Amino acid sequence: MSVITYIGLGSNLGDSRQILTEAVQKLASLGQVKVSKLYQSPPMGPQDQPHYLNAVVQLETDLAPLTLLDKLQCFEQESGRVRLRHWGERTLDLDLLLYGQDKIQNERLTVPHVGVMQRDFVLIPLLDLDPLLQLNGQLLKDLPILQLPTLDVLDAGNWADI
Ligand code: ATP
Ligand code: MG
Ligand code: MG
Repeated sequence: MSVITYIGLGSNLGDSRQILTEAVQKLASLGQVKVSKLYQSPPMGPQDQPHYLNAVVQLETDLAPLTLLDKLQCFEQESGRVRLRHWGERTLDLDLLLYGQDKIQNERLTVPHVGVMQRDFVLIPLLDLDPLLQLNGQLLKDLPILQLPTLDVLDAGNWADI
């Protein structure tokens, strides 16, 4: 049975636009995808790193949560991701934001992802895909953090060519 999931994408090393485009195409091998606009946002954590490109993909998939996480981590590795420092620069970050309505808590996975409610670079692309998305009964579009967004739209079209 398939589930609607949302994956957060980020990159600030290498050819980020190309890396995110390839990531969307790999995600499309796992199920039906829809893609948000492409955004540019300031870094979270260490400020002495380049800005990020961000997007969110809605993926309808049959994969179990940990199997999906394995795939996401495999795609991160294929992009050449190296762990330098916490919240530091990376070629590709793929976070499992939502997995249907499931709440998951184990040593490898926390879903909903811890950052969903606090990060505008996650919320705004999520709302591109479903403007009425709710979490714990809260309409995400009404969260106060969205009143002063820190990100810019880079491409509102079919940037991943999918
Ligand atoms: P953040 O999770 O705050 O965005 P990050 O994306 O930089 O930080 P990573 O280095 O990509 O963190 O991942 C660290 C670990 O987080 C991974 O090894 C993974 O097991 C764990 N993790 C827990 N929940 C999730 C999730 N929902 N999606 C992706 N990874 C997760
Ligand atoms: Mg992350
Ligand atoms: Mg991550």
